Amino acid sequence: MYFLTYIHEGSERIGVLDPDTKRILPLSAVSEVDIPGTMLDFISSLNGEAIDIIKLYLTKGTGMDESLPLEAVTLCSPIPRPQRNIICLGLNYKEHVAESASVVDKQTLPQAPVYFTKLATNVLGPDGEICSHRAVTKEVDYEVELAVVMGKDGTNIPRDQVEEYIFGYSVFNDITARDIQRRHGQWMKGKSLDTFSAMGPYLVHRCALPLPLELDISSRVNGELRQNSNTSQLIFDIPTIISELSQGVTLRAGDIIATGTPSGVAMGMNPPVYLQPGDVVECTVEGIGTLRNTVK
Ligand code: MG
Repeated sequence: MYFLTYIHEGSERIGVLDPDTKRILPLSAVSEVDIPGTMLDFISSLNGEAIDIIKLYLTKGTGMDESLPLEAVTLCSPIPRPQRNIICLGLNYKEHVAESASVVDKQTLPQAPVYFTKLATNVLGPDGEICSHRAVTKEVDYEVELAVVMGKDGTNIPRDQVEEYIFGYSVFNDITARDIQRRHGQWMKGKSLDTFSAMGPYLVHRCALPLPLELDISSRVNGELRQNSNTSQLIFDIPTIISELSQGVTLRAGDIIATGTPSGVAMGMNPPVYLQPGDVVECTVEGIGTLRNTVK
């Protein structure tokens, strides 16, 4: 199921896409259960019953008289205003470790997941504009990533139970100012400039993408293929990332975890070709969709 957040007639709403007709079923049309108006509240209040009912609506075409064509709305990030910092993995694809020499001293593969967070008060959705911040950086880079969204709170989650704590998956662009990342040692600021988080177009429920995930993941700039890998190449897989992180740290329903980027970022090119105003970045994960953003 492809969940989405969208704006229609000036209001932000949540819905689910009927992939056959490309029409959106507003979740407010589902009358058997009380569904809150934002994706975060929906995820936090979720029980298995609601998912089954929504699935039934889609299979039977119930409530479709209230549906909207995809092109009649403006898509937002599925979670436009996260409740906490976005949790990110650094150096989680082998070839990306090698190309990161200019910002990371150690070139050996990490022995434990490298976690960091980025501030993201507002997350860009599809077609949102990435600000190039010309006054503060000359090195804006893209990073396509598979994002995992937690489905319920959990601490000390065993590896074999991780999947039941996940709500679903989306495409994430971990936009980064390399010069700022390098200068400050700690990555937080270089990753946290306004508009430097983009996610979408959909949040795909875990029932459609069972673990282990072996999904092609790629990015293009102005149509040119830059990154091209598969999520099976993650150094630390999703059960490891979530199980390890949750040891002594409570993860919350709605938390976003960006699982790391494969090689092919601008920093790794010789010479580097950083993003410029007017560039179009497309990030794609198989089974989820393409997130397209323009640099302004
Ligand atoms: Mg990243």
